[in-house]
Amino acid sequence: MARAPREYVGDAVCPCCKHTVPVKQQANGYAILVCNWCDSKLQTFSAKGDALLRGAMTPVAATPAAPAAPPPRPPNPAQPAVRPGLGGLLEGLGL
Ligand SMILES: [Zn+2]
Repeated sequence: MARAPREYVGDAVCPCCKHTVPVKQQANGYAILVCNWCDSKLQTFSAKGDALLRGAMTPVAATPAAPAAPPPRPPNPAQPAVRPGLGGLLEGLGL
């Protein structure tokens, strides 16, 4: 059975080749760094090691906030917002 993909949590410098590589979170919650440049792996097995690796990485930027709602449109002075009586169909009929 295939394991679930690991969650990307940040970037860190590989201690072996000094390339910046992604840091992911293992299923046990601890961080792991796998370097595809030099084929090395830095895997943490405790809260202490996890804290050290996470402290050395640049965390993923928080998801950007949703854009603010656009400002309300000003009324169009050339066209009245509300037309009386059936959308203005009865205008001029003298009813
Ligand atoms: Zn490396």
